[in-house]
This record gives sequence, C-alpha cells and structure tokens, in this order.
Amino acid sequence: MKLSIIGTGYVGLVTGTCFAEVGHQVICVDNDAAKVKTLLAGGIPIYEPGLEELVKKNVAAGRLHFTTSTAEGVQKSDVIFIAVPTPPQPDGSVDLSYIERVARDIAAAITSYKIVVDKSTVPVKTGEKVAETIKRYCQAQVECDVVSNPEFLREGFAVDDLMHPDRVVVGVRSQRPVAAMKEIYTPFKAPIIVTDINSAELIKHAANSFLALKISYINAIANVCEAAGANVQEVAQGIGLDDRIGKRFLNAGIGFGGSCFPKDLSAFIKIAEQIGYDFKLLKEVQRINADQMERFVKKITETLWVLKDKKIGVLGLAFKQNTDDVRSSPAIDLCQRLLKDGAALRVHDPKAMEKTKALLPNVTYVDDMDAVAEGCDALVVATEWDEFKKVDLARAKKGMTAPIMFDGRNLFDPAEMEKLGWIYKSIGR
Ligand code: NAD
Repeated sequence: MKLSIIGTGYVGLVTGTCFAEVGHQVICVDNDAAKVKTLLAGGIPIYEPGLEELVKKNVAAGRLHFTTSTAEGVQKSDVIFIAVPTPPQPDGSVDLSYIERVARDIAAAITSYKIVVDKSTVPVKTGEKVAETIKRYCQAQVECDVVSNPEFLREGFAVDDLMHPDRVVVGVRSQRPVAAMKEIYTPFKAPIIVTDINSAELIKHAANSFLALKISYINAIANVCEAAGANVQEVAQGIGLDDRIGKRFLNAGIGFGGSCFPKDLSAFIKIAEQIGYDFKLLKEVQRINADQMERFVKKITETLWVLKDKKIGVLGLAFKQNTDDVRSSPAIDLCQRLLKDGAALRVHDPKAMEKTKALLPNVTYVDDMDAVAEGCDALVVATEWDEFKKVDLARAKKGMTAPIMFDGRNLFDPAEMEKLGWIYKSIGR
C-alpha cells in the first residue's frame, strides 16, 4: 500500500521502515529539515538496534523515501500516519498542538479520500477532534476516515517490536477503513483488535500506566525487602514465575523514566480528572517513583557524607539500555542532583553521550567504561546496559580512592562484590 508517516522520530522512522520492509511504499515526512537531510544523505538520526541496515536496504529497494513536505506525503499516499510528539504541559496534561498542526496540514493537502491514522499517544477523544479539524479546514470537501492505531514499541527493541507485535489495535468510527488497516498489518502476523476510537486511545494509556505501576510495585517491595533483610530479586523471581503476574517489569531500581511512562502516567491522571475520576492509584505510582530516586541519593550521601568535591564515576546516561534516548532519564536526573551537591562526575554511556552533552555540559565524558572509575570516590550504575556487567572491577578498584559502588540497577551480585572487597549498595537487597 502507499503510506506516509508524518513525524520521523523514534516511532515514525521505525514504523515507516518496518512498513517498507514488508513491501509497502512509504514516505516519511518530518518538518525538521536537518533530520531529513541526514536521512537523505544515508545517515540515521537515532540509535536503534538493527534500524540502520533496514533503512539502507529499503531505501535501496525504492520503498522508503524522505521529505519535509507534508503535502507530498499526503498526496502520494492512501493512508497517512501521524507520529508527532505529544509532550506534557506543566500541569501534566498533553500538549496537542503538534497533532492539531498536522491535522490542519493534512486538511490543506487532501484532494481525495484518505485514511488518517493517529499513532501518537493521545488522550481519549483526540480522534474526534482530529476528524473535526480536518473537516473544518479541508477546502476540497473530500471524505476522510480517522483511525486510532496506538504504538506499543519499546525503544531499544523497536525494530523487533514493530516486526513482531503482540497485538495491533485499530480504533475506528466505521467499518470503511478496516480492510485497508488489515492489509497494512497482515504481514506482521499479529492479532488485530478492532475497537471504537475512544477505546483504542484508552488502551495505550491504560497499558503504559499498568507497566509503570508494575515497576513502582516492585520498587515498593524492594523497600520492604531492605527493611526486612530480604532480597527483592528472589521475591521478584518467586512472584514472576506465576503466569498471572509474569516476570517482566519486575526489576527494582532507581525508577522509570524516558519519554513515555512519566508523561503518559501524568496524562492519564489528568484525563481521568477531566472526566470526573480521581485516579489515586496512579498518583501513588508517581509518588513511589519519585521517592525511589530520593532514597538512592540518600544512600549515596549517607555513605560518602560530604559530596562537595567528591569525584563520582557514573555508568549509564540513557533512560534504559540499548538506546541513545536521554529524555527524562533517571540517570541524568541523578547526575544533576550529584552535581548540585558539588560532586565532580566522570560519565560513560555506550550510546547516549552525544545526546547528553547539552544537558550535562560540566562533566567529564569517558569513552572507555573501564576508565570511568579512575580517581573516583565512588562508582554509580545508573542504566542497566548489559555490558556494564563486564566492567573491569579490579582496574576500577585499583584506581579509586575507596572501592564503593552504588548499583541503581542491581547488575552485580552483593555477595560476590563483598568478596572482591567492595562496599556495595544496591536496591532492595
Ligand atoms: P520524536 O520526538 O522522536 O519524533 C517526532 C518527530 O515529529 C520529530 O522528528 C519532529 O521533528 C517531527 N514533527 C513534529 N512536528 C511535525 C510536523 N508538524 N510535521 C512533520 N513532522 C513533525 O517522538 P517519538 O518518540 O517518535 O514519539 C512520537 C509519538 O509516539 C508520541 O506521541 C509518543 O508518546 C508516542 N510513542 C512513543 C514511543 C517511544 O518509545 N518513543 C512509543 C510509543 C508511542
């Protein structure tokens, strides 16, 4: 099918590329001219495992194109996906100005029947507004169906998630666009759930809020474990093997971050408030998450006493492993707190150092993870990159003023670390 994706970011670029991979003709549109220039020159503006090869392959096959022109994307496609940002406003509600802008741009460009699919994460009832906006501003007075098709990919695993989704949610107002949506998604061999638009929009916020809740739950259990002298990893294994609970999202740590969970959670709380429901459960999820960082910082200050002029090595900047995304990253938040208290930081991340430089201009960036601890008073693990498990602990210990590690992601074994002579503090163990 002929598809266009408006917004070529983490979601738009990966979605467009995977659609091309299964044989569709795809135009990825972005109003960031520099981004489009990079893509046209064969560069990839984000890091996502497996993406670069797939983009190159599909560009070479003539199925994947890039442009800054929404009008071109709209006119050359049957189905137009919206994948622009929906950032939070200061009160937690969603800034829908990007969605409105695109709806108006689409309205100005359509001259024949189109299906407009919202892939961005939006509050319930946004589909109705998008349909209304397109109708209002469309001079050509042509018909158009608006569909809600929320995206569930995880950064760091986005290509795999897109190629093998657990399910595809398609929210519609009439049956007319259903066949086309099924044709687009049939190659992905996943269950396709057809709902009304409001339910589809709610599914996304309900899913992300539940995952955030699961993380806060295990973090709360970690705090109980610390007080009781138990081990949260053993408890997580014990409950996670129960099929009704499941093993995933039961890793205790310094809390969730990223561009989705915190914003989707506050959006959902706000949406519920606006329609008359006080979602106290989710407010507690937020509180536990914020508290988790406080507790970790307290652990560091209680051990190191005075932070001023202490040198601290930090492993991890991205909000989670396998990505270069540092938006709302707990690791960055942690660094900013340590800097505020006067510590000097030596930091390393396998992929996110470039994107961190604007956020943390006054730290030392270290290319070699084994050299991060050099001259430091403590080493902190802030992101769960698998490769950090292989950091040269003997070299780190030798180069430090004292072998102290604060492991915010439970990557190491406490008994083993103690045997190696470390003062080792982790989460819930
Ligand atoms: P992003 O910031 O990486 O990408 C958005 C892109 O849209 C940017 O490249 C921006 O330049 C472009 N853009 C903005 N306005 C535009 C316009 N008027 N015309 C053309 N392009 C425009 O954002 P993202 O992470 O891809 O998220 C997009 C949406 O998908 C959000 O609603 C987000 O909540 C949702 N989502 C994100 C993820 C994720 O893991 N990142 C997962 C699922 C859903």
